[in-house]
Amino acid sequence: MFHAHGLITQDGASPGDIIAAAEKELNKYPTVELVDDRVTGLGEHWGRGVFTCAYCDGFEHGDTHLALTGPTFFVPPIARILTGWSPHVTAFSNDLDAAVRAELGAHGVNVDERPIARLNGDGNTVSSLELTDAPDVPIGALFVAEWPAPNNQLAVELGCAVDEHGYVDVDAMKRTTVPDVWAIGDVTSLRSNMSMSITDDVLAAVDCNTALLDRDWNETT
Ligand SMILES: Cc1cc2nc3c(=O)[nH]c(=O)nc-3n(C[C@H](O)[C@H](O)[C@H](O)COP(=O)(O)OP(=O)(O)OC[C@H]3O[C@@H](n4cnc5c(N)ncnc54)[C@H](O)[C@@H]3O)c2cc1C
Repeated sequence: MFHAHGLITQDGASPGDIIAAAEKELNKYPTVELVDDRVTGLGEHWGRGVFTCAYCDGFEHGDTHLALTGPTFFVPPIARILTGWSPHVTAFSNDLDAAVRAELGAHGVNVDERPIARLNGDGNTVSSLELTDAPDVPIGALFVAEWPAPNNQLAVELGCAVDEHGYVDVDAMKRTTVPDVWAIGDVTSLRSNMSMSITDDVLAAVDCNTALLDRDWNETT
């Protein structure tokens, strides 16, 4: 269960309750139109047709129509990887600047600026995107190219320094800026996967054990 902290009158409230209360208040104003741009079906297919890592999940969906969504900064590098898996790649985004659209076009990547209204699938695989006022577009997978929000709450509560994206600062042995606190994997880097996290884990475990051995060893001398 998530709780919000530091917002006077809402300390300890759930983020969902805060959003619901805000929507209720805003709905009183005839001049305000609330637009829900969450894509229906995306959450249900997370990890089962909706992915973030083009290296992890591209091969399994090779030669299908691969859809990609995200901002200018992220779309080109992910699109480039996806074109290695399939000749049929479309970037669904209205946030691409002209140079990026031209770059994608030059490499055979389609750009579709119509908003995604819904993702269709059976819960285990995805089948199509519903676009606003347009026929469904069949797809084999949807890749979401965005900055993930690192789950850094515990590290922040312990006082560990984080970078501008929320990743916990660590040194080569995965020590954080707080003594006797190590951090590994996704919470420390955008470029993380299982192998890298396991490697981090070994480094941190060795360093942690070394620190404990040093302490015991020095106490007995
Ligand atoms: C859809 C998807 C597909 C992926 N596919 C692949 C793939 O095919 N191959 C690959 O190598 N990588 C893949 N990845 C990436 C890979 O899953 C991660 O990089 C890896 O799991 C990171 O390991 P981690 O230990 O850092 O984090 P996690 O695996 O997220 O483990 C962190 C654990 O800490 C727990 N935790 C968090 N906060 C607390 C707390 N305060 N107290 C106690 N416990 C806590 C969490 O519940 C979780 O169990 C994929 C990721 C996604 C999202």
